[in-house]
Amino acid sequence: MFRAFFAIVLLALIPLYAAELKVAVLHPLLGDLARQIGGAQVEIVNLIGPNGDPHHFEPKPEDLGKAQGARLYLVAGMGLEGYLPKLKAIIANKATLVEVGATLPMLNGTDDHSDHAHEIDPHWWHSIECFRRATGIVAKALTNASPENAATFQKNADAYRHQLDELERWTRREITKIPRNKRQLATAHAAFNYFCKDFGFTAHPVQGLSHEQMPGPDELAALIADLKKNDVAAIFPEKESNPKLLQTLTTDTGISLGDALIADGTGILSYIEMYHHNVDAIVKALAK
Ligand SMILES: [Zn+2]
Repeated sequence: MFRAFFAIVLLALIPLYAAELKVAVLHPLLGDLARQIGGAQVEIVNLIGPNGDPHHFEPKPEDLGKAQGARLYLVAGMGLEGYLPKLKAIIANKATLVEVGATLPMLNGTDDHSDHAHEIDPHWWHSIECFRRATGIVAKALTNASPENAATFQKNADAYRHQLDELERWTRREITKIPRNKRQLATAHAAFNYFCKDFGFTAHPVQGLSHEQMPGPDELAALIADLKKNDVAAIFPEKESNPKLLQTLTTDTGISLGDALIADGTGILSYIEMYHHNVDAIVKALAK
């Protein structure tokens, strides 16, 4: 009797609480963005998990099983997801896939690892302007998938853009604490070119555009000379990967080791939290 009663109550509640639109994301920051805009109308499935490496993901049937019923897939694009052709083939015409970065302003990778010299740098999320534009792109994608919620998505996107405006103003204020000649950002992999361009820093990545690209002996010697020439004050490891090489570099050069930055947007709750964390770490180490 009781069981039947509960079953009826549960059935009655499901339509009230079930999100109207299931969205699969291949990047945690896109999950945050879709949540900000979609609110209670969307259910987000983060396929790579909170700590996954967005550069590398092998779409396995069990992962994709979690996204069953998703009508929209959001990926960062700009070549970040090397597995994209495979994923597209699996999704086929069952859902819409949007490469959010596809129409954003792109930078080329600045690393001179010869075989990657002209690669597009996919780390566009470190530009607040790019993320603001991405807000419009995701709002449009959600609206296309669920037109009846267009007004809600629009309202949420506008509110989120205001938060990004405030984030940008705060970042600019914080960066004024760092003398101009100290705005040198030495990091593990080459993820911060967009940040450096927007905020007037020079990037000195130790690795290439992904964690796998390690410098050879000649490149390392050139990098050390470059760090010394520019009087670089700190080298920043990453939360996602912390190659031993960075420790060695700081020991060899006497340059201090900064706090770990969040390069690929993983292991963090939100974009704004990531930005605050990174800017705080950079200011703390360079504004001396
Ligand atoms: Zn990266």
